[in-house]
Formats: sequence, C-alpha cells, structure tokens
Amino acid sequence: MSIKSGKNHYAIPGIIISLLINIAVINAQKVPISFEAYHGYTGTIDYLKKVNAAYPGITELMTIGESTMGRPIHVLVITGMNKGTTIDRHIELRNKRKENIQNVPAMKIHQGKPGHFIGGSTHGNEYTGTEVCLYIIDKLVSAYGNDETITKLIDSRAFYICPMINPDGVYNSVEKGIAQRANSMNKDDDEDGRINEDGPDDIDGDGFITSFRYRDTEGMYVIDDEDPRLMIRLGRDEKTDKQRYSVIREDIDNDKDGKRGEDYESGIDLNRNYPESWWKDDGFAGGSGTYPLSAPETHAMAEFFTNYRNILMAQFYHTSGGFTYRPMGTAPHSRLNPADVAVFDFIMGKKYLEIIGEEVPEAWLYPEKLDQYRKELQGSDADTYSKSRGYELPRGWRVSYNEEGDKRYGYGMATDWLYAQYGIYSITTELWNPEADIPGLEVRDDENRRAAVERALLKYQDDRYDGKLFIDWKSFRHPELGEGETGGWISRYSRNNALPGEPLLNVCEKHWQFELFRASLLPEIIIKDLKTNIIYSGNTSEGTAKRDNDEFRVETGKGKGRYNIIEITATIENTGALATNLADGEELPGNRQDVAWLVAERNNIEFLEGRPFVSLGSLGGREKIPGVSNNPSKKEVKWIIAVRDNTPLKIVVSSLKGGTVYQEINVK
Ligand SMILES: [Zn+2]
Repeated sequence: MSIKSGKNHYAIPGIIISLLINIAVINAQKVPISFEAYHGYTGTIDYLKKVNAAYPGITELMTIGESTMGRPIHVLVITGMNKGTTIDRHIELRNKRKENIQNVPAMKIHQGKPGHFIGGSTHGNEYTGTEVCLYIIDKLVSAYGNDETITKLIDSRAFYICPMINPDGVYNSVEKGIAQRANSMNKDDDEDGRINEDGPDDIDGDGFITSFRYRDTEGMYVIDDEDPRLMIRLGRDEKTDKQRYSVIREDIDNDKDGKRGEDYESGIDLNRNYPESWWKDDGFAGGSGTYPLSAPETHAMAEFFTNYRNILMAQFYHTSGGFTYRPMGTAPHSRLNPADVAVFDFIMGKKYLEIIGEEVPEAWLYPEKLDQYRKELQGSDADTYSKSRGYELPRGWRVSYNEEGDKRYGYGMATDWLYAQYGIYSITTELWNPEADIPGLEVRDDENRRAAVERALLKYQDDRYDGKLFIDWKSFRHPELGEGETGGWISRYSRNNALPGEPLLNVCEKHWQFELFRASLLPEIIIKDLKTNIIYSGNTSEGTAKRDNDEFRVETGKGKGRYNIIEITATIENTGALATNLADGEELPGNRQDVAWLVAERNNIEFLEGRPFVSLGSLGGREKIPGVSNNPSKKEVKWIIAVRDNTPLKIVVSSLKGGTVYQEINVK
C-alpha cells in the first residue's frame, strides 16, 4: 500500500522519549478488563465507550440501530483510522447530486479494507458470546503498536465487533437475572389489554429468580441420588419408583388469568428472522416474526451488512456445546459451491478442531486422497451428503442441516443469509463445553452423561466459587401450587454460559485464537512492478492522440504544453491467503469484480489502449485450497495513454471485499 504520512517529526530530548516508552509498555492495556464477572448490558456499553475514548486512532463506535426497548446496538470498528483508502477518495462522481442533497455520503476509511464481523448474544441468554467479543476487543487494541503481526492486521483489515445483537435479551438475562433468549417485544401476548404484565417473579424475595420444585405425580424430574441438590430429568416414557417432581421458574400468576409467565417481554427468536429461506417450500411463513427482518434488531443487522459490503468473514457466537456450524442449515450440502466447502472444512474446520482439541478427519489431513476416502464411504451407512463429500462432518465442525434425515434445521438464520446472499464466510460457534473448557473437571462415568457433568459443575462451584452460584433448596409455599422448595442455580450461572473466571477465560482465549487465524486469511492486494515507458514525447502544443491500427497519431491542437504518449504496466496481486470473493462471489447480486483504475484529471488524458478501468475478475489467494483450482492471484494491467505533461497519474485497485489500494505513478 502506498500511503503518504503527513506526520511531522519533532526532536524530543532522549529522557522524555524513554519515559514515554515506559508508560506505553505499562499501559499496553489502557482500559482494564476482567472476566471474573459477566459484563451484562451496562458493563458492555461502559467498556465499549471507554475503549473508544482511549483508542481514537484505531476505533469507531457505531450505533447501527436500536432494540425494541430503545437500547443502542453498537458495533465497535477496529482498524487503523489513518491507514488505507477508499475508491471515492480517488474517483469523482460523474453525475454530482444537487447542492445540499447529501445522499451519497463519503465512504469510511474501513470500507476500503477487507472486513471481519464478530457478533454475540443474538440470543440474550447466551452472553458468553458478548464476553468473547470484549476479550477479542481487548486483545486487539492492547496489541496495537506492541505486536507487529496484530498491528499490521489492524491497519490493513477492519474488525466489526457487535457484542450484543440483542441488548434487551442481555439486559434481562444478566442484569435482571431472567434468562431471555428472544428479543423484547411490546406485545399483548395473552390479549388482555395489558402488555408484558405477567413474567417470572422472585417469589421467595431472596433477590434471585431461580426455580420452584414441587411434588407432582405427573412431574418429569426426580432428585439425584448422589447429589440431592440436582434434579434429574426423566425420559418421556421413563418409569421410576421415586417421587416425581415438577420444576418451574420462580413465578406466580400476576394477572390472575390462571396462567403463569404467559405475557412477558420475550418476543421472537432473532435467528429465525433473516431473509434467507424464511419461507417454507409451500410459500407459508416458516421463520419468526411477521415478515423477514420485522424485528428492529435484525433490521439493523441487514442495514449494517448492506452498508459494509467489504465484510468477508462473519462469526455469530451462541451457546452452548463447544462446536461450530458452518453453512448451511436451511439447505443441503448440494447448495454450497464445492470450492467454499473446501475453504470451510480443509482450512477453517481443520484449524478449529486443532484449537478445541478434537480429532481432525483423515480426509482433511490428506485431501489428496479424497477420491479414495470417497470410495471407501460408498459401502458404509453414511448419509448421501457425506458420501458425495468423501467424509463425514465431525462433532466439532458441522452443519445444522439434518443430513441423515434430509431435513432443514430451521428458517431464516443469519449464517445462511450472509453466506448465500452476501458472499461471506459466515459461521456460528456454539461456545462452552464444560468438559473441554474446564481442564481437570472431574466427570465420572455415568450412563447419563449430562447428569454426570451437572454433578461435576455443582462440585466445581462449591470448590471455586464458595458455593455462591447455587441457592440451596428451602421450603416455600407457592400461592397457587402449594408446598415445595425454591432453589437451584442462579439463572445467570446456569448451564447455558461459561462460568466466570477461568472457564470463561479458556473459552475466550480459544476463540480469539480462531478468529485471529481467520482474520489472517483475508485477502490483501498490492500493486507491484509498476513500469512506465514514454513512447512519444513531443513539445507539441495541445492536441489529440489517436490510435490508427498499429500507429499512434498526434494531431496538433491550438493550446500549449507537452503531450506524452506513455505505456503503463503493473501487476496487481492478492498476497492474502483467500480469494477476494467466495466461489460464487462476483456472480452474486450486489457483488462485483475487482477493478484497476488509471486515474488522472479527465481533461488531460486520452486512453489509446485500455479503458480507465480494467476488470480483474476475482483475484485468487496464495493459499492452495485442496481440490480447487484457484483463480490466478495476480493479473497484469496495461494502458497506453496520451497525457498532458505534469499531469499526476495513479493506479487505484478496488475490490469489494479485498480492499482498495493505490500507487502514484512517477513517469520516467
Ligand atoms: Zn443461540
């Protein structure tokens, strides 16, 4: 990249310099952050504002929309704000809008860089993702200027981090302690003329909304023999001689309509409200909401992704399970371009499995033997899609589409939408697998693995958190259900999220490493081997130059000045690992080819060979993708121009997702 630094250098006495350096090292983490407690909505907003204030040179805090309850949806942009360029800084609009009509805002500097989106808490009760986002923010900004690789990454790429896609859900789940997966809606669910009047309640007044258990011959729970604090859920037809219990959230019938918790803030599942495959095959609504993007939160996301078409990577954090869904969930394997599958599985999936410590499929380690693996699978009981790929997807890296049953997982999901409609390597990671994320967690063998993990977690919180995350059961008389007991995990710490402290830090570190790896795959365009050759230089007065078969003819005009005929050649190369587009990228509506422009004052230049811009297709990456013949990663460009002397010339290369770079041309 060719960037002119306008910075002045002043002489500073040596002593002051060394003092400044010391301060810089000590304050590498300018905004301290701890993961001993969840940040929730309030802590997250506070942290984002502080980071933005402390790092104005590399951050921008955008508000991309507002939740139902009026809370801002923020995206923190992290990129070198004085590094890079955009196409509109070089090429003027041909048809200027009327004065005072600002309908074409100037591009932001980061729109000229490959973008990487990371979002958390689409589901409000899955706020581990918010924490991982904050951890990644801290790692990025603290490393800037201290770590060469990360500094370069921040200067040349744009990170877009949205810790809370569903801020209302996070607020209710963390601050109020009422787990809320959906967004909030001002909706009269029970049609009694009142809105959100019957939600969960702290019935025993201990400050926490936990659970209420009561004896019930129809109940689906029994008390665990080993740890009587634990309630074991029975299978649907499971028989038992033990006392059966029902377990509900602490709740009473606030509006006296005979139902509990039937009209709370909780609205729709945002991850079923995106446009991709929102409709069923029969044309009826399949997704959530009244129409695709009906929720203010998904609407904000759609506007954001439409404005920032430079984004090539996207990650949506959910919980739990400790695995990743790559596309697709709404359509079978055959819907994906094999070249994209190769990038997802052989490059990203392989790395992910290594990071989470799971076995990598043999076919991914030896992709050159894929045909052989494919043959071997034919006689097995593997599903059709695995047979066509040549391998079964492992536990840790999978699709949500049900390949065995040939059924889609859901409708209107974010990851599918961004892959299919925006050409983005989008994935969804289900964070938090206690057995992997708490090293040394003692889970004893048991037929009921889930119960064994629950027991281990209860013991872990006894030892590490002084038993403060779980409220012991105590007698309580429920006004509607009679005698029973209140108690259980404090909602905030229940199974859904990584326990704060060490377990959460382990989750954060793994996923920071993975996203750092993905960011390092992004394309990076350079202009090199720029050569100019003056074919004709005349002290003629201004005239026109024409190409006449193989000859150039300069017709003398009436003005003055030298008129040169110059041949310009250069190589445009993508030195990044991945191509500037997904395999279908430039064919997708709204995507486009990479383009090289030769820019000069319009009245001073005439193109004799070549046009002002040259389409380059999609430049391939340097990484060899198994089974895929890459597009070439470099292309030659050539122009022959007639240009008035001393006219500044430059080459500008603009790729939607590969970034914009330029180089000034020194005619020799
Ligand atoms: Zn989720």
